[in-house]
Amino acid sequence: MFENLSERLSGVFDRLTKQGALSEDDVKTALREVRVALLEADVSLPVARDFVKAVQDKATGQSVTKSVTPGQQVVKIVHDALVDVLRGEGEPGSLKIDNAPAPILMVGLQGSGKTTTTAKLAKRLKEKDGKRVLMASLDVNRPAAMEQLQILGTQIGVDTLPIIKGEDPVTIAKRAKTQASLGGYDVYMLDTAGRLSIDEELMAQVEAVRDVANPRETLLVVDGLTGQDAVHTAENFDERIGISGVVLTRMDGDGRGGAALSMRAVTGKPIKFVGLGEKMDALETFEPERVAGRILG
Ligand code: GDP
Repeated sequence: MFENLSERLSGVFDRLTKQGALSEDDVKTALREVRVALLEADVSLPVARDFVKAVQDKATGQSVTKSVTPGQQVVKIVHDALVDVLRGEGEPGSLKIDNAPAPILMVGLQGSGKTTTTAKLAKRLKEKDGKRVLMASLDVNRPAAMEQLQILGTQIGVDTLPIIKGEDPVTIAKRAKTQASLGGYDVYMLDTAGRLSIDEELMAQVEAVRDVANPRETLLVVDGLTGQDAVHTAENFDERIGISGVVLTRMDGDGRGGAALSMRAVTGKPIKFVGLGEKMDALETFEPERVAGRILG
């Protein structure tokens, strides 16, 4: 879907930039195409509509039609409007992790990349910020998931909470907190269990863990390729659990525009990081400028 959006917008703006002067109708036609392109990129209708309206108001206010290079000016206005929507409050990638040990709760659906992202972020905190990090898996239903986190921990040189069979997630969260305090860790990360879809049991479990951990950050990991579904997932988790930010994974795939735009517009939550592959280094700070640039092509 990303390629469609990018190509389509490039096509529109190519035509605009080649023309000398533009009539108001030209601008309207271009913006209509922008709207269609956004919808095709799986941006929701209200978001696309609001976005185009904002751009139209700006374009009219800045009398684009009188400009010598109207096409370029429209491109700039669209670009700036994209950045506006995509930018959250605060520094991109910043986390509230003062007051050691700071708990970070990782939530999301199964297969979203939650465990991988937990380890990637732990590695980043260790290497970039010099933090001592402890990771704990709370996925008691899937022993393989617990082992996966342990293996990743060994690989990146980050400690994991020893696995004790038969413990429930709340008990593990409490043990992680104690271990983090006693062990002098700066941060402890709780990798909660996922499900294939949102259900009551999952939400109740995450809620119970949240209540004992009192996390400084609750990061929702969502698959950036799932478009509107990713946005619905975020709305659900935010309503029930309260999230402080989003990590969009699989941004190395095709869906690099629409999900990010809708996510920001609908949830209002900052996108903090993006996953760009399976490797442990493939996590980057979310850069609104770069994503806007990619959307425009
Ligand atoms: P979980 O069930 O949410 O914990 O998901 P996992 O962390 O086990 O990830 C599921 C699969 O997605 C694994 O094969 C990961 O390597 C892969 N994955 C995670 N993040 C990314 C990403 O940003 N890009 C790509 N291409 N693959 C990813």
